[in-house]
Amino acid sequence: MEVTINPTVLVVNCGSSSLKFAIVDPASGEQYLTGLAEALGLPEANISWRFGDAEKQKDSLASGADHTAALTYLEEHILEGKPELMKSFIAVGHRVVSGGELFTHPTLITDEVVKGIEQCIPLAPLHNPAHLLGIAAARRLFADLPHVAIFDTAFHQTMPAKAFMYPLPNELYKDHAIRRYGAHGTSHYYVTCEAAKLLGKPLSETNIITAHLGNGGSVSAIKNGKCVDTSMGLTPLEGIVMGTRCGDIDPSIVFFLIDTLGYSVEDVRNTLNKKSGLLGLSGKTSDFRGVIEGLEQGDEQCKLAFDIYCYRLAKYIASYYVAVGKVDALIFTGGIGENSMPMRSTVLKLLEGFGFVEDEAGNAAARFGNSGLITKAGSTKSFVIPTNEELVIAQGSAEFAK
Ligand code: ADP
Repeated sequence: MEVTINPTVLVVNCGSSSLKFAIVDPASGEQYLTGLAEALGLPEANISWRFGDAEKQKDSLASGADHTAALTYLEEHILEGKPELMKSFIAVGHRVVSGGELFTHPTLITDEVVKGIEQCIPLAPLHNPAHLLGIAAARRLFADLPHVAIFDTAFHQTMPAKAFMYPLPNELYKDHAIRRYGAHGTSHYYVTCEAAKLLGKPLSETNIITAHLGNGGSVSAIKNGKCVDTSMGLTPLEGIVMGTRCGDIDPSIVFFLIDTLGYSVEDVRNTLNKKSGLLGLSGKTSDFRGVIEGLEQGDEQCKLAFDIYCYRLAKYIASYYVAVGKVDALIFTGGIGENSMPMRSTVLKLLEGFGFVEDEAGNAAARFGNSGLITKAGSTKSFVIPTNEELVIAQGSAEFAK
């Protein structure tokens, strides 16, 4: 007897040497399959996957296997003998980091749209070219399905000019589109919708501040369900302290590094993107768990990295009271936001002046995928909400199902 499965979306998220995939039911959010191909283009290319809660499986791919090879492996090997899953596809959803000012909604991918994503490469030079590889491969392999692009920047396109413009000469925006775009939009959007449900409010009346804290991280100000400010800028380098990225610094540091210390432009790019943030401050690790371990063992640099991370994050959150006005709740999400109780506790204490009072038991319980209220009754509310970007991509893509 053939098993029937609800309609699903194949969600594809390509990095330069990786391809994450998931088969998601857009109605229930159930993930039938999740997987990751890594080291693409290298001799050690490999792929791992898991059906639902079943055990993880792994295989090596041919040396130098590319994005097409990874998707072919998915179709021919992983989904072999699972015709019901193959038949359940109604669309393929592609995560795209930057849609610049061109794309504000989920968009059906045509040759014209591919050109638009190419145009946005200067805004996401590491990501958009990789997405285009995945899109080309998937359009070839799954030619009968609608392919949909879901842009990380789209949710932030509602920001007003006072939030998205830099105080630079006007023509840099007019002629070169230099402005703030933000990132992690699908995650900020997802937790905004979930927060509205937890608050029992319509989305259009939901006023919150969302902190997506992973290896990269950003804070967004949401007024009446719409993004009115966000901490990432032209690129994901601006904003809070991140794993290896510096976030906000005085731009003159760049001149100092070049003029006084003899750095090349490439050295500067590398330092600010890959050697700064938690890694630079701790001198040890970009991983938040590693910072916490160091701190617990009395490492002074890890303690300072933690303190600066929390202090700068709290300052961003406080500044977004200007953007939002009356705040219903503060939301934590992403690997650090969902799991680090000490970080949340420290940030809530720094924000005491805004009426936040931590509920220690609630804060301790909210980890490993649990959502929950982490503040006491009478406090300004703060929730942990595990993010689900795959579901947003699946739902946005399902709108274009045949
Ligand atoms: P990405 O931005 O790559 O998607 P994630 O959202 O998975 O990253 O977040 C990764 C970060 O979450 C890492 O810094 C990791 O140390 C941190 N993290 C994961 N689990 C915990 C935990 N239990 N406590 C503290 N930090 C954690």
